Amino acid sequence: MSIYGDYIKSVIRTVPDWPQAGVNFRDITPLLQNSAAFRKLIDSFVHRYQELEVDAVAAIDARGFIIGAPLAYELGCSFVPVRKKGKLPFKTISETYSLEYGESSVELHSDAFQKGDRIVVMDDLIATGGTMLAAAKLIQRSGGHVVETATIVDLPELGGSEKIRQSGHNVFAVCS
Ligand code: AMP
Repeated sequence: MSIYGDYIKSVIRTVPDWPQAGVNFRDITPLLQNSAAFRKLIDSFVHRYQELEVDAVAAIDARGFIIGAPLAYELGCSFVPVRKKGKLPFKTISETYSLEYGESSVELHSDAFQKGDRIVVMDDLIATGGTMLAAAKLIQRSGGHVVETATIVDLPELGGSEKIRQSGHNVFAVCS
């Protein structure tokens, strides 16, 4: 957790029963509207990664992009989009993972980075961990080294961050 964790948490809105009954959706739009909070959020990630020789930030479609792009800019490294199926125009590799009902896939361009590159994988939230783990697998299959998986919000009660750690990756969450 970041030193700004409680503050960041206080500007994230929970919307009950959205997009379906039983889901408490963590809405980051109030955080994005608050320029001081948004700056503290990005600074939290910059502070964590600026000494770790990161070659690329791989951010997950779509809210991961909002944080991943300014982080890559500040670190002076590459930005790599990990996209939902069918969105990337060049040669892709893909990883399919299970959802509560059905499955989903994430994709990466085959030339997104060099083998051995050190990569931070970024998304806005970890729930069951399926999305983040699939993205980390894509990075590894492409020859990248996952420095850490990073997120704004971890929902530890859903077990995702623990599953990601058990798969051998570090997890950094600004708040939970
Ligand atoms: P999961 O693969 O179950 O860890 O789900 C994480 C992905 O789904 C992230 O890309 C989130 O943006 C989204 N997500 C899942 N649950 C929530 C939630 N309660 N609030 C906001 N986003 C969520």
